[in-house]
Amino acid sequence: IVRLDNVHKQFGSNQVLKGVSFEVKKGEVVAIIGQSGSGKSTALRCIDYLEKIDDGQITVCEHNLAGSAPDLKALRRDVGIVFQSYNLFPHLTVEKNIKLALKHVRKLGHKQAAQIAQEVLAQVGLSEKADSYPEQLSGGQQQRVAIARSLAMAPRVMLFDEVTSALDPKLTGEVLKVIEGLAAGGMTMILVTHEMGFARKVADKIIYMRDGLVWETGGPEILDHPETQELQEFVGIGL
Ligand code: ATP
Ligand code: MG
Repeated sequence: IVRLDNVHKQFGSNQVLKGVSFEVKKGEVVAIIGQSGSGKSTALRCIDYLEKIDDGQITVCEHNLAGSAPDLKALRRDVGIVFQSYNLFPHLTVEKNIKLALKHVRKLGHKQAAQIAQEVLAQVGLSEKADSYPEQLSGGQQQRVAIARSLAMAPRVMLFDEVTSALDPKLTGEVLKVIEGLAAGGMTMILVTHEMGFARKVADKIIYMRDGLVWETGGPEILDHPETQELQEFVGIGL
């Protein structure tokens, strides 16, 4: 459902992606790990066409992102992305934050939008917060609203970029539980994460990025038995 072939991306003279290839099948959960600056976020942003690639191929849900500009509206409906910062509208209630895109992007009526908002809030365990404002919620709750807002679009693929790194451990747990629930429900997901334990538990496939390349990839077992010295050091084996 997502395929990168030899993807290159540079910012000025900074080569950030130097030939990244990987594939994500429908229903798969893929965790991308790696040092700061290795190109994880850039790879994710290329998949949502927030960055245009310089060379190589990307296909996402039948959209070709390498040649002429893709149908962005259709792409963004198929792909949901959640960042470390929640980007909720502070002056709108939780429910209205979610309904906004449903009305404007999916062109749903008030009643249908309200119903979907209820459903996705239930999915992230926040039904009772529909009428709260973002500032009245904890960081973890806000992040769950951001996830709910993405889910409301009924995406075929969800991308998560370190969605828990701004949260303390307890709130992190709440958010990870929501993501685990999505995985159990069969959602196709690509997660950039620093949570090794979580990656091991929820991911079907791990991608270790280093220096703009997929350095090592495999099932979660590679975290316990890395082949490369670099991944060994990254996960802290043999230190
Ligand atoms: P982290 O774990 O810190 O989030 P990362 O693996 O996500 O790191 P990226 O954000 O993909 O790393 O950044 C990789 C490199 O690309 C860095 O050197 C960064 O400075 C550079 N970079 C990223 N985005 C831009 C941009 N919009 N303009 C210029 N340089 C950028
Ligand atoms: Mg990043």
